[in-house]
Amino acid sequence: MSTLLVTGGAGFVGSALVRQLIDETDSTVINVDSLTYAGSLESLADARHHPRHIFERVDVCNRRELDRLFRDHRPDAVVHLAAETHVDRSIAEPSPFIGTNVIGTSNILDAARAYWNDLESEARQTFRVLHVSTDEVYGDLGPEDPPFNEDTACAPNSPYAASKAAADHLVRAWHRTYGLPVLITRSCNNYGPWQVAEKLIPLMICNAVGGRPLPVYGTGGNIREWIHVDDHSRALRRVLEAGVPGRVYNIAGQAELTNLEVVKAICAILDGIAPRAAGSYAELVRFVSDRPGHDRRYAVDDGRIRSELGWQRQERFDETLAKTVRWYVDHPEWLQRVVAFTIARCAGE
Ligand code: NAD
Repeated sequence: MSTLLVTGGAGFVGSALVRQLIDETDSTVINVDSLTYAGSLESLADARHHPRHIFERVDVCNRRELDRLFRDHRPDAVVHLAAETHVDRSIAEPSPFIGTNVIGTSNILDAARAYWNDLESEARQTFRVLHVSTDEVYGDLGPEDPPFNEDTACAPNSPYAASKAAADHLVRAWHRTYGLPVLITRSCNNYGPWQVAEKLIPLMICNAVGGRPLPVYGTGGNIREWIHVDDHSRALRRVLEAGVPGRVYNIAGQAELTNLEVVKAICAILDGIAPRAAGSYAELVRFVSDRPGHDRRYAVDDGRIRSELGWQRQERFDETLAKTVRWYVDHPEWLQRVVAFTIARCAGE
């Protein structure tokens, strides 16, 4: 692939993908992001100033601007990550999720289709649109249920998950109706550097380092599966290279933990690298009222991407969680940005 149009490339997963594409491939990246509160050019690190990185501050809800991007940059493929992503925000105010995740995705599909229709036959054959989705579209599992596979019907529970499932259905329909060569991936929860601290892992590190309470929903028993963001990015690249158009690929981390186990693991790492005189960080844990409709457990079966595309995870949860915690401790300026943001949110801004 020589030119990739990546939407949401200034976000947590998108920036990891862009850094990899710039560091490890010869691709030119057209990074399309409207820089909401969740986007930051800082997260691109050295890739930001690379000659093969072109940043376009464009909202995916702006169809006219999307047409211009396709005309100006003539991409060989699209990786669509731009989204509103925080479940709690979707519960407080669903409409931005419908705007970006549903309308924005339909704009991407339509702009891509118009462009693809006019390509020469060889370029038409190899063009792809990869839509980056989530395991949350499947709904939740009981403790003993087998993991979701790609044939499991969508049964989303939160407004965020419902908006992503709606987008997945549009992507499927654009393939079936118009033949647009699309791919869908559904990954479990990601962790790693440069994540906005409203999400579990950076929020806990941020609060712990600041000596503030560590709020855990309910009893902390909800189970999530975790994957390092670099493994997710490598999986996206593999699906783009070799995935079969029209197909869905689950991406699993095979590290299933309760939220409380994750928080305790973070506390144990912090106890080792930055001990508190007042006792273990785990003493800061506070149980708070549960999130409405809180999914109990997610887990996905990723047999398809491993057997059909030969993708393998490279990172181990225990090792890379420790590196992730160390990264946030070593980047107080990022935590500072996040602290200001979190405090502003608590104040109702
Ligand atoms: P994020 O919230 O960190 O980043 C989202 C990015 O999209 C930001 O840079 C933001 O500025 C941009 N954006 C938002 N609305 C936009 C709009 N209207 N136009 C253009 N840009 C816009 O999200 P993330 O965690 O990096 O997730 C990226 C994608 O991966 C999402 O589609 C998400 O559903 C999916 N995903 C994430 C995870 C995870 O654990 N983080 C897991 C599975 C799937």
